[in-house]
Amino acid sequence: MTSYFDPGALIGVLTTQPLDRPLDYRAPEGGCHLGAFVEVPLGPRKVLGVVWGPGRGDFDLSKVRSVIRVLDAAPMRDEMRAFLEKAGAYTLTPMPAMLRLATRAPGLGDPPSMRRVYRLGQGTPDRMTDARTRVLEAAAEMGGLSLTLNELAEAAGVTSSVVKGLVKSGAILEEESPRDTPFPLLDPDHGGKALTDDQSAAAESLRAGQRAGGYETVLLKGVTGSGKTEVYLEAVAEALRQHRQALVLLPEIALSAEFLTRVEARFGARPAEWHSGVTLTERRRVWKMVAEGQAQVVVGARSALFLPFRDLGLIVVDEEHDTSYKQEEGVLYNARDMAVLRASILGAQVVLASATPSLESWANADAGKYKRLTLNARFGAAVLPEMRSLDMRAEKLPANRWISTALQHAIKARMAKGEQALLFINRRGYAPVTLCRACGQQIGCDHCDARMVEHRFLKRLVCHQCGESKPVPTTCPHCQAEDTLAAVGPGVERLAEEAAEHFPEARIAVLSSDLYGTARELKAQILSIAEGGADVIIGTQLVAKGHNFPKLTLVGVIDADLGLQGGDLRAAERTFQLMRQVAGRAGRAEAPGAALLQTYQPEHPVIRAILAGDEEAFWAAEAQERRAAGMPPYGRLAGIILSGEDMGRVFDLGNHLARNDGALRRVGAQVFGPAAAPIARVRGRHRVRLLVKAPKGVALQAALTEWTGQVSLKGDLRMAVDIDPQSFF
Ligand code: ADP
Ligand code: ZN
Repeated sequence: MTSYFDPGALIGVLTTQPLDRPLDYRAPEGGCHLGAFVEVPLGPRKVLGVVWGPGRGDFDLSKVRSVIRVLDAAPMRDEMRAFLEKAGAYTLTPMPAMLRLATRAPGLGDPPSMRRVYRLGQGTPDRMTDARTRVLEAAAEMGGLSLTLNELAEAAGVTSSVVKGLVKSGAILEEESPRDTPFPLLDPDHGGKALTDDQSAAAESLRAGQRAGGYETVLLKGVTGSGKTEVYLEAVAEALRQHRQALVLLPEIALSAEFLTRVEARFGARPAEWHSGVTLTERRRVWKMVAEGQAQVVVGARSALFLPFRDLGLIVVDEEHDTSYKQEEGVLYNARDMAVLRASILGAQVVLASATPSLESWANADAGKYKRLTLNARFGAAVLPEMRSLDMRAEKLPANRWISTALQHAIKARMAKGEQALLFINRRGYAPVTLCRACGQQIGCDHCDARMVEHRFLKRLVCHQCGESKPVPTTCPHCQAEDTLAAVGPGVERLAEEAAEHFPEARIAVLSSDLYGTARELKAQILSIAEGGADVIIGTQLVAKGHNFPKLTLVGVIDADLGLQGGDLRAAERTFQLMRQVAGRAGRAEAPGAALLQTYQPEHPVIRAILAGDEEAFWAAEAQERRAAGMPPYGRLAGIILSGEDMGRVFDLGNHLARNDGALRRVGAQVFGPAAAPIARVRGRHRVRLLVKAPKGVALQAALTEWTGQVSLKGDLRMAVDIDPQSFF
């Protein structure tokens, strides 16, 4: 296909507006390239678009308007357009929504903007004050580097007027400089560690793949602390040597502070960051610099996958099994799968790193589609934690107590040695249920079918589904009895209370995402814990991530059965992963660790597999069951979620679809439902779901498109299709 259009040529422009196809325009004066970012008129407005190909010419030619201007941004590469089209076709997402994912930075069309910066000059101020001295010292410390007014004032601990006062005499220079500055160069040979034999072999294999330069996916498996990060940073180093860019995806921004410091130590400078906590101006800088090849490494959350890399050679998906890679709102995509798709289009390497890979990746490696590298020993003190179950059937705990005697003793023993203990419970808040002792009713959310969870820290009841919150009532909303409401069951906050009673002398820290106003506060808390600022840590699944707590040697899992109870296809897999991960938290440094699992079902196969550390057995058994049931990854699922204000109408629509399932049956797919979604009401809307199950290898998307295309959505009815659903809400 031609890659340049002469002035006046008919071109198709994809915009971010919800239209079902690219629109015809005429190329502007000076012509334009395929993939160019342009501004086009749409009705009375000007909108952003990308030149997607030649125009279709099926619109009245005399009415075709001209592109207003070509934006000052590198044209979208063929590879990226192909990726957006394939990803859109796979997830059944309209192209405008795909383009929005790829243009998530403000002011892309703005000319390069300038900002005012300050640095040390030669002049001498007429008069010196303490504050002025501090400014000159702070500026001198920066060498020749410039700071903004606020940055310099803050560094010196003075008001901005003090800095301004030094400009007239030339002691401080005021200049204009471009806002979007390139990222500092990373040096692949700056700070590599001496690797163990195991690690070297894995690193060499990754480097060889990088040098070969084509597509491959590698599953890098190894227990927490075995050096996976160390190893994949060698692949990043090799990408740098090949002058290609690298992207490291992390599941949660809470990880990045520690991680960025580590990348900086390895390569001598900080990489670019991309996640929801990054300011808008910084986003714009990252987007532009990535496109120009002036950002070599990006560390980011899943949406970084849609950045306009100039020459991406490596995508690392760390903790590849993490469920937060699945975007559950808007465009429903799984970043791990999309990483593999993008890499296969552009000829890049993917490294999926995990201690406990998803069954999908395990099966792909097993089938030889992915290469598998395993790190066996832990680095340094090569001891896995001792894992034991504590049979709670034999415990006679008083009411509202959850920490068994054996666990209490173990914690005290660790504290006596100056070590840390972690109590894990995957429930935020104080108590999962608030119940009236008079009428027995539970307090539910007014907008959803979820229970309200008491948060004593916030002094409110909170719905974990829709976020609705209200003060804890003094009378029961059902029977109006006074002071009869009781908290039932434990959450992290309540467990912290119990721990404080057992260990009055201990410093107790609670790690739960909702207790911190900002990601920065959370990072600060994590850092302080890592430095020994707590004896007992109480945490939700947040702690199952890769934080490194060197003094932590004991993990107590309060309710190991929690994950086994859900009616979810992946419950066993989740429980297994979570426990291995949490157990991996214990004893990362020299002291040997222990993991104690409180359970009422010590003979359950999942609990036994965890304790035996026999992952292959666990996966093989789980794979066997899924294969027999035709479930993923041996079959395919798609969820259809219908919603609307009137429950009857939503069900009618669901029934209509279920009855007219010819398009599905033709490819051997079955439809289940309609049924009320597990959370049947969200924000006042009723939700009904259908589940489609299909054999592997059929054209499921085409069948779904034909099937759902039979109905038109009237009024407030909505339909969302979730390919490969992760959660069953
Ligand atoms: P994983 O990513 O598998 O959890 P890491 O790469 O984070 O493991 O390694 C765990 C810890 O051990 C880190 O602090 C890391 O710096 C250290 N480490 C791993 N391998 C080496 C090595 N070869 N030399 C020095 N330190 C290492
Ligand atoms: Zn709610």
